[in-house]
Amino acid sequence: MSKPVTIVLVYQSLLGIYGDQGNAKVALKRLQLRGIEAELVSVEPGEPMPDDADLYFLGGGEDMAQISALKALQSDGGLRRGVENGGVLLAVCAGFQICGTTLTVGARDEVVEGLGLLDVETRRGEPRAVGEVLHRWTRPDGTESLITGFENHGGRTTLGPAAKPLATVEVGVGNDGSGVEGAVQQVGKGWVIGTYPHGPILPRNPELADHLLELALGRGLEPLPMPEIDELRRQRIDALRG
Ligand code: GLN
Repeated sequence: MSKPVTIVLVYQSLLGIYGDQGNAKVALKRLQLRGIEAELVSVEPGEPMPDDADLYFLGGGEDMAQISALKALQSDGGLRRGVENGGVLLAVCAGFQICGTTLTVGARDEVVEGLGLLDVETRRGEPRAVGEVLHRWTRPDGTESLITGFENHGGRTTLGPAAKPLATVEVGVGNDGSGVEGAVQQVGKGWVIGTYPHGPILPRNPELADHLLELALGRGLEPLPMPEIDELRRQRIDALRG
């Protein structure tokens, strides 16, 4: 019998304030609805981070909480090994920022070193980016899908050459106001996807959820028809496009 797909929800006590834990729950549910055995594990600072999981989820949080999470992840080292071993990491907002090479924190904008899992840098910018967003994401098969969500960040993130944008911005600020949103990078045998939208993003965007699952499983998945989710998406998109 094959082992269950393992999903790790990382440091909810620090990075749980924006509800991004919903991403891990949706990943679990979409696997279970397809009859794929899966388990969700919550790991807190001080507990060893498994380095053999299939999926890892990092959420958003306040500046000081994100630095505590960064320090704990740096000293543990399991998340990096887990991705290098083939795990897929979705990192949202504060989680996205700490995956980068450097970021600024605190009133004095001190520059600190990130996890280096994404070739991105974050610096504080004005004004704070707050509001509903709509982004255009090109799926691996070349078709376009829209990403809806809610951004709330003071950081502005710029991409280096090793990181590719996840999407382009139709409504909202995105990474830094330059028209791109998020970052994608292969790290060892795994993948890291950083993005700003809360919502959480995966309940709002089932195609992105399935993309993550397909990356982690290394195979395609049949669609899961959910007309009520399609209707909610249509309403949100219509509201943003006026
Ligand atoms: N503290 C970070 C910022 O303001 C991240 C915020 C968040 O996770 N929503 O940029």
